[in-house]
Amino acid sequence: TGWWDHVGPAPKDPILGVTEAFLADPNPEKINLGVGAYRDDEGKPLVLQCVRNAESMISGTEFLESLSSSVSLRLVEESAKLAYGEDSDAIKEQRYAGVLALSGTGACRLFAEFQRRFYPKSHIFLSSPTWSNHHNIWRDAQVPERKFRYYDPDSKGLQFATLIDDIKHVFIEKGMFSCMQNAPDRSFFLLHPCAHNPTGVDPSEEQWREISYQLKKKNHFPFFDMAYQGFASGCLDEDAKAIHIFLDDGHLVGCAQSYAKNMGLYGHRVGCLSVLCADAKQAAAIKSQLQQIARAMYGSPPVHGLLLVSTILTDSKLKRLWKTEIKDMAKRITGMRVVLREKLEKLGSAHNWQHITDQVGMFCFSGLAPEHVDQLAKEFHIYMTHDGRISIAGITSNNVDYVANAIHEVTR
Ligand code: PMP
Repeated sequence: TGWWDHVGPAPKDPILGVTEAFLADPNPEKINLGVGAYRDDEGKPLVLQCVRNAESMISGTEFLESLSSSVSLRLVEESAKLAYGEDSDAIKEQRYAGVLALSGTGACRLFAEFQRRFYPKSHIFLSSPTWSNHHNIWRDAQVPERKFRYYDPDSKGLQFATLIDDIKHVFIEKGMFSCMQNAPDRSFFLLHPCAHNPTGVDPSEEQWREISYQLKKKNHFPFFDMAYQGFASGCLDEDAKAIHIFLDDGHLVGCAQSYAKNMGLYGHRVGCLSVLCADAKQAAAIKSQLQQIARAMYGSPPVHGLLLVSTILTDSKLKRLWKTEIKDMAKRITGMRVVLREKLEKLGSAHNWQHITDQVGMFCFSGLAPEHVDQLAKEFHIYMTHDGRISIAGITSNNVDYVANAIHEVTR
């Protein structure tokens, strides 16, 4: 037999598969509501002005070598400030271990590896549902996953009481049966601090306080995956509020940050992983461990995107511009939610579409069934993931009528 005869194709990625189907469709009216990348009102990818300005500022710099450690330190610190707050004690006391990572995915992967190394028997608790790649990332790091219930298909909102129950007792599904089992203390919980993917459902401030309280009671470790900071409210600080609540409660937390969405740097893969520690000495030790893991995986990250981000974060004018551009992106998305809901209501849809405007961030968990999703693709050339997740960023003033009408037709 040949060397690779036993290797079959990997299962299709549910998100990348949508793009494939979209690209294969020759119809010029086709619309891709699958991919989680921001589009402007013309449906085009947006290069932020702050990025263009930063690009011209760094052009000609000698960046063929890896980033100088002072630039990299500064960028990690600026990232930590975005997550933990400008005046956070953890930063003042240097109680955080931070490393630059290959965007949000790479930051999660580094943390998963770190978790397995130092808590080899631990699980990762993921919300049901969550971003599909979370399953792959922790599986490849050989950390078994458990789930906690999160989304309520009936209200299309948060299943809050059940979520709290699942923090106290873990929900185990065994085939057709399910049972409750005491959650082992000191488990790892992955939380989306804002703009939950795929549901668009975020806990309220009060609910976050309760989640924080319950996790603390069980001594669980909260790991925040913050891929969309700014996209929920339009404000970076507001979107980090959940993390601040946990800090106030005295948690040590971890955080994966991505600049893919909020700086529109998808392809540059700029991100940061940070872990809060008891003191500066522990932080130095953990940082060295994270660096070692990264070194064996990919050496060091590419520098161009890092330089763009560090230029923006360390120049007060550019940073201000960035914040207004985030606000504009978030505003367009919120606006499209309102228009889509209004159009569906005007068409006389018998369904309740309030969740379109209740949910936040780039995605709307529409409640469309897999049959609806198939029919939208086949008859209307509108593409989205099978779970009915709509990327609101794919909706524009020009196509919102067409999208609303198509959704109305398939749900009549
Ligand atoms: N976490 C979540 C919840 C996401 O939705 C994404 C992107 N889809 C990521 C992490 C990672 O994104 P990236 O690696 O592009 O920064």
